[in-house]
Amino acid sequence: MKIGFTTSFPVEVVFAAGHIPIDMNNIFVTGNASSYVEKAEFEGYPRNICSWIKGMYSVALSANLDAVIGVVEGDCSNTHSLMSSLIDQGIEVFSFSFPHDKDRKKLKAEINKLERLFKVEHVQVLNVKHRLDKIRKKLVLLDKLTFEENKVTGAENHQWLVNSSDFNSDPDDYEKRLDEFISEVKKRTPFVSKFRFGFLGVPPIITDLYDFLFEKNVNIVYNEIQRQFSMPSLKADLTDQYLEYTYPYSIIDRLHDIQVQIKKRQLNAVISYSQSFCHRQIDNILIKKYLDIPVLTIEGDQPGKLDARTKLRIESFLDMLRY
Ligand code: SF4
Repeated sequence: MKIGFTTSFPVEVVFAAGHIPIDMNNIFVTGNASSYVEKAEFEGYPRNICSWIKGMYSVALSANLDAVIGVVEGDCSNTHSLMSSLIDQGIEVFSFSFPHDKDRKKLKAEINKLERLFKVEHVQVLNVKHRLDKIRKKLVLLDKLTFEENKVTGAENHQWLVNSSDFNSDPDDYEKRLDEFISEVKKRTPFVSKFRFGFLGVPPIITDLYDFLFEKNVNIVYNEIQRQFSMPSLKADLTDQYLEYTYPYSIIDRLHDIQVQIKKRQLNAVISYSQSFCHRQIDNILIKKYLDIPVLTIEGDQPGKLDARTKLRIESFLDMLRY
């Protein structure tokens, strides 16, 4: 069965049950994203609702999914209404929650509920976790090749890490391609860039942001949330792994991780990206308050290329850093 999902969750359970997990965000953003948004708006989704939600709605209706897992706590409150729309369209929907208070018992109960739903034993799920952790260790290496050796571009780092949410639905193939990529980049001459930036927030809906920055002598050597999707903590226990995963909890949890990585990766500045109409824009208040390096906030709305205004803002920010 093909099981769509709305954001990273314990995907090990779905693999253990022999199903194919599909991160609907990745289908949306790598497909004809504008037409997915238009389709949802045509069916009544409001203009002032985030494009990702509209994209996932259209993907769920067109990707021949057998069911959808909606993360209804810890991601996006719009998911509640998205799930209702999908139920109305005859799609089977399951929910998963990351408890906001990070209560270990509650999270374990959520994982156990998912295991019962998919009729798998915890030991089967752990076997899958060991398999996926083997790949995740290679992603930690890829990340080091990015920030320690400057041999991986920010765009490449983004692409591999963001796809680790579902391993492109085929971990064996993903690992094979990753092995090839790593052996190829090890032979590269390190990139020289004037600025080392971090990218904070949800993955961008803007398609040419990394390329534009790279042209301007900026390499992104830290993709915050994409890195979180790759579960770099490699905790032995499944519940612990999903407690270490910062994205579904508060900005306070995220800030602890971000501050460590800013020092470790010797960043000059960060871009804090948020999506139009997203509640996470409020987090920029604390990001700006508690980070002690320059922060540029960027907002994306419709899928597509950088607009002239955002390009100008990036260029002005770089001018400010130069002087
Ligand atoms: S970007 Fe924000 S509003 Fe959009 S789906 Fe993600 S959490 Fe929800």
